[in-house]
Amino acid sequence: EKLILNGRLMDRENASIDIEDRGYQFGDGIYEVVRVYHGRLFTNELHLNRLFLSAEKLSLRIPYTAQELTAQLEKLVEANGVGTGIVYLQFTRGAAKRKHHFPEKSETTYVAYTSELDRPLEKMKKGVKAVLSEDIRWLRCDIKSLNLLGNVLAKQKAVENGCYEAIQHRGETVTEGSSSNVFIVKNDELATHPATNLILNGITRQVLLDICRKQGIPVREEAFTVDDLLGADEVFITSTTSEVMPIVQIDGKMVGDGAPGAVTRKLQHAFEREINGLSAQ
Ligand code: PLP
Repeated sequence: EKLILNGRLMDRENASIDIEDRGYQFGDGIYEVVRVYHGRLFTNELHLNRLFLSAEKLSLRIPYTAQELTAQLEKLVEANGVGTGIVYLQFTRGAAKRKHHFPEKSETTYVAYTSELDRPLEKMKKGVKAVLSEDIRWLRCDIKSLNLLGNVLAKQKAVENGCYEAIQHRGETVTEGSSSNVFIVKNDELATHPATNLILNGITRQVLLDICRKQGIPVREEAFTVDDLLGADEVFITSTTSEVMPIVQIDGKMVGDGAPGAVTRKLQHAFEREINGLSAQ
């Protein structure tokens, strides 16, 4: 199995990272997860755009262009023969003597590796359960940073309750899942939290908003409350790995009639067309 370390394609067992890497000690870095379908990178440009935005917000230098990164990732996917899976890529502020502030000199550490990962077809058909969880994260959730303890604790709560995802809320306001964005449907209208500092602007979220605009499905990018969530006709989450995933139960209470709704299913079909290289009509 091959990976990329600092731009070089190599065998995984030959790769090593310094114990004083700032990603390891401070979570001082950023990452992306890009889907691979049919052996090809899906919405790679959008992921790299967000990667460069995250880097800029943290004054982190990425010593490659988007074109160079794309070429490297395509080579990696091919080398590992990935058909359906993901590419994980991560950039940290590099290795330096342990001090909190930015080191005067450090080289960005860059790692990319692949993993086979099936589409969650069965779950998407039946829907999954969620728990509510107070959002205790910091106020720069727009940055896709390696600091994920708030997300880790939320997902752990979901797992301990036999659920697929934790839906986070700051007081009354629903923000996002532990690793997904949240949409509600009420009277055939969609709503999702606006792309502020309180959420990660998901790529799947962006693709879905685009589909809605093209198909004339009304969407409001406006914050909604926990009561709105629990009273919604349909709820679904979106992410690179979960795609468009119906939520059919929240904290033990049924959403709508307890089955994936018509609007959710319509959007799943539209997303499927994107995966297969057919854009929305
Ligand atoms: N929100 C958070 C906190 C995430 O970690 C993720 C992805 O893992 C998302 C939203 C969804 O983003 P994307 O659709 O780009 O995978």
